[in-house]
Amino acid sequence: MAKKHVRAIFPGSFDPITNGHLDVIKRGIELFDELIIAVGRSPIKNPLFTPDERVEMIAELVADIPGVSVESFDGLTVEYAAKKKAEVILRGLRSLTDVQYEFKLAMTNRAVAGIETVFIMTSEEYGFTSSTLIREVASLGGNVSNLIPKNIYDRVQQRLERLKNQQ
Ligand code: ADP
Repeated sequence: MAKKHVRAIFPGSFDPITNGHLDVIKRGIELFDELIIAVGRSPIKNPLFTPDERVEMIAELVADIPGVSVESFDGLTVEYAAKKKAEVILRGLRSLTDVQYEFKLAMTNRAVAGIETVFIMTSEEYGFTSSTLIREVASLGGNVSNLIPKNIYDRVQQRLERLKNQQ
């Protein structure tokens, strides 16, 4: 029998994408045939980049990783997964707080759509890396260059500079 082709989606806000996300993506594609990074278009608090900008920045980063692509989506994650014929939702876990939240989300998604969620544990060095903290720390002048890829860091600096000049 031919081996099944498994397509997964990795949904999130990715504002901005971090080294922690990239680690999950690189380890995730080892488990699946195809991985679609799915940037949610639903509004988040104090965004730094538009969903389209996030997609463009991620596309540049993953261009060299076979099987990985990126797009944005509106509305329910499970509906998007069904539209893309993805059997798996990939998510990352950093802490017990993540586990609590993700557990409920995964149970709900399985209850409403019968879709499985697969989790990848963070690598120790990224256990404290979150986009929200990066946005906060960077906007207060902190150095986040170890936590995000170089080209993303440059874009964050440019954006913060622009926002500062607009004030
Ligand atoms: P969301 O707003 O949906 O949580 P995020 O962009 O913050 O979107 O995160 C997307 C996914 O990536 C989530 O499953 C989150 O737990 C995971 N993730 C974020 N940062 C890390 C990290 N440093 N290590 C492992 N997983 C992570």
